[in-house]
Amino acid sequence: MNSSQSAHSPGQSASPDPGSADGSHEEAASLEFRGVTKRYPGQGEAAIEDLSLRVEAGEICVLVGPSGCGKTTAMRLVNRLIDLTEGDILIDGTSVKDRSPAELRRHIGYAIQQIGLFPHVSVGDNIGTVPRLLGWDKQRISTRVDELLELVSLDPHDTRDRYPAQLSGGQRQRVGVARALAADPPLLLMDEPFGAIDPINRERLQNEFLRLQARIQKTVVFVTHDIDEAIKIGDRIAVLKKGGKLAQYATPAELLMYPADHFVEDFVGADRALKRLALQRVRDIDLWKAAEARIGEDTREVRRKLEDADLTIPLLVDEQRRPIGWLSHRALEGERVEEKLRSPAEPVVELDDILRDALSDLLSSETRYAPVVDGDGRAAGVLSLEVIGRFLHTAPSEARTGADLVVDEEQEASPAEP
Ligand code: ADP
Ligand code: MG
Repeated sequence: MNSSQSAHSPGQSASPDPGSADGSHEEAASLEFRGVTKRYPGQGEAAIEDLSLRVEAGEICVLVGPSGCGKTTAMRLVNRLIDLTEGDILIDGTSVKDRSPAELRRHIGYAIQQIGLFPHVSVGDNIGTVPRLLGWDKQRISTRVDELLELVSLDPHDTRDRYPAQLSGGQRQRVGVARALAADPPLLLMDEPFGAIDPINRERLQNEFLRLQARIQKTVVFVTHDIDEAIKIGDRIAVLKKGGKLAQYATPAELLMYPADHFVEDFVGADRALKRLALQRVRDIDLWKAAEARIGEDTREVRRKLEDADLTIPLLVDEQRRPIGWLSHRALEGERVEEKLRSPAEPVVELDDILRDALSDLLSSETRYAPVVDGDGRAAGVLSLEVIGRFLHTAPSEARTGADLVVDEEQEASPAEP
């Protein structure tokens, strides 16, 4: 996954966040839908039918699907804004039916598209709503409000006393997220939280949210109808069809590579191979290893290194291990390495580059492979069309085949020579 994705990899205990200092911190909770069906009174068809899925503690599960497929219904069942018809929902193994709706809602953050801020109440008081219900004293609430505003990148002094109408849409949305986090709930429900925001601010909010989640590591159920948002935000994605039927529940990469049926395939779109490349950075895949050589080095040593390398030609590097170019075989004819370049080290790809961009660099330079460098420009491996092709074929499950290939077969087939 790209760095923002890997930044919210699940499973670790939460790093300290501003809410934990006062002892109010709650760990993330697991969430499980077990055979959940919801039929609204007077409706023939179920809004959700026999939905089963499990969200591990600290993971972001995205519910995605067309309008009316039951996403909001699924969320509202969790905090008992509506009641289950059949099945059960368990939070850390305890049924929501065994908890009172009021108690449940105090421990579940809820952020919705319409933001739901109280218009005649200041930002600070909006955020402090649940802590007040929990009986926190004034000082503790005030400290918490400021911490949360900072957490969502708003200036407390500037924002605390304003009214919602005095904020931009993006700022209001941040306040909505801050309010949902106020009592440091182990579970956060977000129903199209960025749906009403323009694309540029939306992207910014998504990035901020991922950074925030990397720190707080809550269990999050995030609803969207936008597959690109789902792919970017989700550790796992549940694709729902009309009637709340689960079409597929998988990681973003699995969904893109192995859509379960035509519905999912249509939903994720025709450019899914490219989307998968857009999710990864060069550092995320297994690179080739080059034999590194320096001018004046003993050629026997370089030949020995070539035996462990994935390419048959050595990469010439300078004293700082910065790539200079690919050596020709003649460069190894004498006792010491000479600078006889077969080709310059172009393009050079960085570990942090998005894989899709790196591929386009290779293709536009008409080369099959390129040295990869770290942030200091030092050699860190070799990216090749084969490496990318193998990645598209094998990840995420070695057992399956048949993914779309973005590199055409002719280019793929020949060995590692420029
Ligand atoms: P989504 O959030 O995916 O757009 P919803 O969960 O809001 O979908 O709705 C799922 C289905 O349930 C739709 O067919 C909708 O019309 C129906 N529905 C939602 N709320 C109610 C309600 N309070 N009463 C009756 N039907 C409802
Ligand atoms: Mg909805």
